[in-house]
Amino acid sequence: MAAMAAATGSYGLVIGGREGPGHREDAADVLNPATNRPFARVAVGDAEDARSAMEAAEAAFRDSGWSSDDGSRRARALVALARLLEERQEAFARLETENMGKTLKEARIDVGFVVRTLEYVAGLADKIQGETIPVPGSRFDYTLREPLGVTVHIAPWNYPLLLAMRSVAPALAAGNAVVLKPASLTPLTAISLARLARDAGIPDGILNVVNGPGGAIGETLVRDPRCRSLSFTGSSEVGLRIAEIAASRLLPVTLELGGKSPVLVFPDADLDRAARGIALGIFGNAGQMCWAASRLAVHESVRDALLERLKKIAEATRLGPGAEEGVEMGPVVSPEQEDRVLAYIDAARDDGGIVVAGGGKATDPRLAGGNFVLPTVVANLPPSSRAVREEIFGPVLSAVSFADTDDAVRLANDTAYGLFASVWTRDLTTAHTVARRLEAGMVSVNEPPITFPQTPFGGFKQSGLGFEQGLRVVENYTRRKNVVVNLGAPKRKS
Ligand code: NDP
Repeated sequence: MAAMAAATGSYGLVIGGREGPGHREDAADVLNPATNRPFARVAVGDAEDARSAMEAAEAAFRDSGWSSDDGSRRARALVALARLLEERQEAFARLETENMGKTLKEARIDVGFVVRTLEYVAGLADKIQGETIPVPGSRFDYTLREPLGVTVHIAPWNYPLLLAMRSVAPALAAGNAVVLKPASLTPLTAISLARLARDAGIPDGILNVVNGPGGAIGETLVRDPRCRSLSFTGSSEVGLRIAEIAASRLLPVTLELGGKSPVLVFPDADLDRAARGIALGIFGNAGQMCWAASRLAVHESVRDALLERLKKIAEATRLGPGAEEGVEMGPVVSPEQEDRVLAYIDAARDDGGIVVAGGGKATDPRLAGGNFVLPTVVANLPPSSRAVREEIFGPVLSAVSFADTDDAVRLANDTAYGLFASVWTRDLTTAHTVARRLEAGMVSVNEPPITFPQTPFGGFKQSGLGFEQGLRVVENYTRRKNVVVNLGAPKRKS
């Protein structure tokens, strides 16, 4: 690849297998959220660069042979990419931590998840096939599963590599050419992965990465006539807007949007386990998770006992730069995100909430330069409070109590979102009956939010449309064609 790839701390746009500046040669500093100091420079593209990426992707789709029927070639390339990434797992994890703020432990898990995703979809690449269908008369009917062409992927900043590759990997497995727009705050690991594509055997132009402002780049990509599908992960607000553009072109879309996920704790739950799981589900990744389990509803008989445990865990959580050994929670991604989270905590206080733990910015002077928010638990909020209804995207748990199962289910479903819900109980009947009544695309029982490349990930209501991951994920990135052949044979006399 071109010169920019070799320069430490300097990242370009990756278009047609070449890495370099955009046509206007704009670049921006990339900041470390633990210090707010720049540590890298990244090229910033515009609409013209977005169109160049679409052109490169279409040419590669047409000419490189990637989309041909030989899925085993794609499988080998994706496994090779998995190996190259795995060999560099530590370097990628460190880069993700420096760019996004999460702890190294979390970043290592993320990179491991991407490795397993690549392996999983590699296993699907040579099993994409049609079917034969019996039809009346002397005819032979079959279906073909074809790649779509150029697929567009728009990713957020909270799991920069993981959420980008969750849709990019199956799109590649299905034989498409990809244009990825990473979040402007966190483009580095996606660019770094694209640098490995050629060595993995992925033809130039099949994996393109265009960094730049969402409005200009994202909308240009989706409006481009060469775009054949959109996979968007991000806020519900932007998701709805971009989906309208996609709808006007009848593009297939997968939308993975926001959430305000409930945790239900029944009186028979193992409270120690539940408290640890709830803390992971809201303080993990500093709460910047679409499926953060951010609304606790606990049975009134165990409310105080559970809140006491959560307070202890929150107060014992070690905050610090994600790269530091032993740190359990890193900063939030930017000063703007910190302001947003702190404003929600203030609003919760104004609404009469009782702050059980945390409740503001970290006061440790060592952390003053970064965006550190204390792990926070707020109780007694009215259901109408913004902190209960809106996605905060920070380490803030709101807690209410319920009297019986109907009350718990009503509280859980009283939200515009429907991404995830968790249930803590030792009773099998409660676990399964409540899981069925919850309006959420994913439910966990006695587990914090957890997912695997093998299991579908998606939400109901305002949380999205369609699913990523799982055995059927390549269907998102293929189209079905029916072929009927008249065999012209004379009718048989029976
Ligand atoms: P945004 O919706 O602001 O941004 C997501 C991506 O969209 C970024 O790449 C952004 O680019 C881009 N974008 C911004 N404006 C436009 C536009 N007009 N047209 C096209 N693309 C655009 O979300 P955040 O980055 O703030 O991410 C946090 C959100 O993501 C949360 O609401 C969270 O719930 C959701 N999310 C959902 C997940 C799920 O699987 N359901 C998983 C993770 C997060 P730029 O960075 O340049 O602005």
